[in-house]
Amino acid sequence: MNLFIFSNDLRTQDNKALYEASLDQDGLVALFIIDKEKNKDHGDSLAKLKLKLLGLEKIKDSLISLNISLKILYSEKISDEPRDILNFCRSNGIKKIFLNSEYPFNEKQRNKNLEEICLQHHISYREFNSQLIDPDNIKNNSGLPFKVFTPYSKKMRSLITPDILSETPAPIKQKNRILYQDEIPQFQDAYDQELNFSFDDFPLTESSAIQKLDDFIDSSIQNYKELRDIPSLSATSNLSSSFAIGLISSKQAINHVLGSLPDENGTGQFTWITEIIWREFYKYITYHFSHVSKGKCFNPKYDHILWREDEESFINWCEGKTGIPIIDAAMRQLNERKWMHNRLRMITAMFLSKNLLVDWRKGERYFMENLIDGDFCSNNGGWQWSASTGVDASPYFRIFNPITQSEKFDPDGKFIKNFVPELVECPSNEIHNPSKEIRSSLNYPEMIVDLKSSRLRAIDAFKSIK
Ligand SMILES: Cc1cc2nc3c(=O)[nH]c(=O)nc-3n(C[C@H](O)[C@H](O)[C@H](O)COP(=O)(O)OP(=O)(O)OC[C@H]3O[C@@H](n4cnc5c(N)ncnc54)[C@H](O)[C@@H]3O)c2cc1C
Repeated sequence: MNLFIFSNDLRTQDNKALYEASLDQDGLVALFIIDKEKNKDHGDSLAKLKLKLLGLEKIKDSLISLNISLKILYSEKISDEPRDILNFCRSNGIKKIFLNSEYPFNEKQRNKNLEEICLQHHISYREFNSQLIDPDNIKNNSGLPFKVFTPYSKKMRSLITPDILSETPAPIKQKNRILYQDEIPQFQDAYDQELNFSFDDFPLTESSAIQKLDDFIDSSIQNYKELRDIPSLSATSNLSSSFAIGLISSKQAINHVLGSLPDENGTGQFTWITEIIWREFYKYITYHFSHVSKGKCFNPKYDHILWREDEESFINWCEGKTGIPIIDAAMRQLNERKWMHNRLRMITAMFLSKNLLVDWRKGERYFMENLIDGDFCSNNGGWQWSASTGVDASPYFRIFNPITQSEKFDPDGKFIKNFVPELVECPSNEIHNPSKEIRSSLNYPEMIVDLKSSRLRAIDAFKSIK
């Protein structure tokens, strides 16, 4: 009997490990691990955990039709997982394990330990690359990992051949009937928590994720380059939660785009594929530079920044009560919708790490605890980019002014008014930074920080690091 272990790959199509596990026709079990302690340590949001469980409920039917059993394994913590998996294998006559790679340190370590334990107990262990291209196979001319996005992206594009893009076939239907099948637990039973949230905007199955992608390609991708920064529009794909739990793969996404449109520089589809490559890049960085998974700055020099302890401002930021309309609207979008527009992620992250000079790791954690698409590599990469501590990061002296950003990307304040009801009656010419009088009449707070002096304070803090 073979075992496939789910990572962030909740799909049957283009799933290398699942396909390989199905080839023997020896009987196949797919294992989903519920590890509350790990989820707590990693700050996984309830929205993402519930999305995964709902997705699992849906994929179960596809697995049944392939005669693949689905089992749930409960582990206490990630360091226990290898032993728990071993025990599962022993009790179920499993001889071979198949899984797709994950790149954050804890997951890499778990898989390394699992491989060792398998070796000791004569169980075959096979791990498959889950990136477009194996991170070990993209290096610069000196044979070292890239640290700058543009040359990485150029190299990646030069390597994306039809061969690389060929998708793994669907798993082979198993000859033997399923012997056992676990019920998917209710969310509250699995995670001891409840969450009332509508998942209508987020696909639960691989086919609905592909459908959403195709709709985006038909309707919006050609305008993506021009409109992607406007948060009041639905001009981006909103597929990040599907990528995060693996309902679709990068390969599938690129194939669907290239099936309709050419990858020509300057087009919307070219820009969108570049975003998929950013996603690959942050996984690549996490793989090659494991210190980023250990709470360290990519650039070790910035481990010495003296961040401010300012819990009150941090809480105001979390709650969307900073007195800066675009920041408040963005944080409330996150809190209500469990998703935030990319431009706003950059603006809010930069505001916290620069104007408030609060440690970016606090913001990283808050995002992870709330985002439905929380992905360690992209989140860490995005935060370190904004905080200027990361790989190919924004230079520390180039600090977004949130008011200017608001004027540029939400000119009529439509997005702000959607999420900050106090400001619905605010005159348009004051929406980005209402006067004292308007603030007091609308019961909207003063700014919690002076933008000019806090900008200089941040530059000084970075400059002082030799
Ligand atoms: C501070 C910060 C934190 C972030 N945290 C996350 C996170 O936890 N999970 C996450 O998936 N993305 C994260 N991002 C990246 C980006 O904001 C989201 O992927 C994007 O907003 C999702 O919306 P979409 O699906 O409509 O994207 P689209 O614009 O349609 O892009 C398509 C896909 O490309 C990928 N992508 C797009 N932009 C980026 C990017 N800058 N970096 C990496 N991948 C990208 C995503 O998978 C996305 O679904 C973060 C960015 C910042 C600045």
